Order: sequence, then structure tokens, then C-alpha cells
Amino acid sequence: MLAFAVGLSPVLAFGVAAWWAHARSTRLEIVNLCAAAPASKRSSRQQPVDAVVLHQMAFSRGNDLLCYRKVTAHFVITPNGSVAQLHPLSARLSSSHGFNSRSVAIEFAGNLRSANGNWWRPESYGRDTLTTEQIEAGRKLLALLERQGIRFVLGHRQSDADRGNDPGPEIWSSVAQWGIEKLKLSDGGPEFAIDTGRPIPDSWRSFDINA
Ligand SMILES: [Zn+2]
Repeated sequence: MLAFAVGLSPVLAFGVAAWWAHARSTRLEIVNLCAAAPASKRSSRQQPVDAVVLHQMAFSRGNDLLCYRKVTAHFVITPNGSVAQLHPLSARLSSSHGFNSRSVAIEFAGNLRSANGNWWRPESYGRDTLTTEQIEAGRKLLALLERQGIRFVLGHRQSDADRGNDPGPEIWSSVAQWGIEKLKLSDGGPEFAIDTGRPIPDSWRSFDINA
């Protein structure tokens, strides 16, 4: 089942050889589930891709990647750090509102808390915590995408008013902020948001995931 998705987007000018070499060096295994995910979610891109948008699912179905095949994202990361690619990077998905045309979407499994320590409908969706394995996998995936030309790491919150805790402080402080500091990615700046979205709060940037 382990395989890398080929047929990468000419929009991104991704090199398969470089993808392979880097993925192997960082030991990130990506399960190719593009054939199992609904192709009806895909449309063609009209503009270059320069961003990754991070999301939390606000639910978890465990570690079986196939249970996530209908999630509308290019990549999913389960609690044990398993990573699947569901759609080719050349496909535009309806994942991230106004960021869709320019971005690749990564969804982390879990119902993750807000900066105030509240979980959304925990009686139905539980109280999850981002795992060390998810952080490691998320960072490796971000690094892989940066090597292929991604320059921005954004949050769904920045493009839609109803996604106030998406991806939330745990993912932001441990994955996005790492990308900003180590990979020199940009989140658009302190006040950046589009449409009905809101900027990334300072409380996310400095959130202590172990608190
Ligand atoms: Zn989202």
C-alpha cells in the first residue's frame, strides 16, 4: 500500500525524483490513496500554488487511513502519524474557502482544543490532543512541500469566519510556527486574513502544547 503519488502537478513543477529523494531522507512515508478518494471533489487549477493551508478535522476515526478517504484535503495525518495523499496536487479542492486556488490542504485528525482550553462539542467528538507523531509528520510534510516551492503556511481560520479554531493553537504552535521559523515560510503577516476570515491570534503562536 505504501507508495508515493506520481503525476504531480505541472503547476507546481514538482520533480518526482526530488520528491522521492527528500521523502526518503526524512523517512516520511506517504500512502497514496488518490484512487480511493472521490475524484468528484477535484477541479482544475487556474493559478500557481504557493501555500499550504492547515486544518483540524474536529473528529477522529482512529489510524485507519481509509476511514478518511472522503476528507476534502490533499493530505491527512492520523493520530499515529500516518500520512495519506488523497488527491493530486494538481487538483483544486473545496477545502479552504478563498485559499483554494492557491493552496494545498493538510487535515490533522482529532477534535483539538481552543486557546481557552475548550473543545467543540466534546460529548460527540471527544477531547483529543495533537500527538508527537502528528507533529513530526506534519513538519516533515511541510518541509517536503517547501522544497517543492511552497512559500506560505496558512490556517483555515484566515479565510472563513466559521473556522475560528481551525487548525487551532496546538497545530499552529507546533507545526506552522516551526515552518515559519525553520523553513522561513510566511503566514501572511500578523493581520493577514481574507474574506470573512480572521488573523492568527498571538495566543496560537506561543501556545504551550504541554500545558
Ligand atoms: Zn478547515
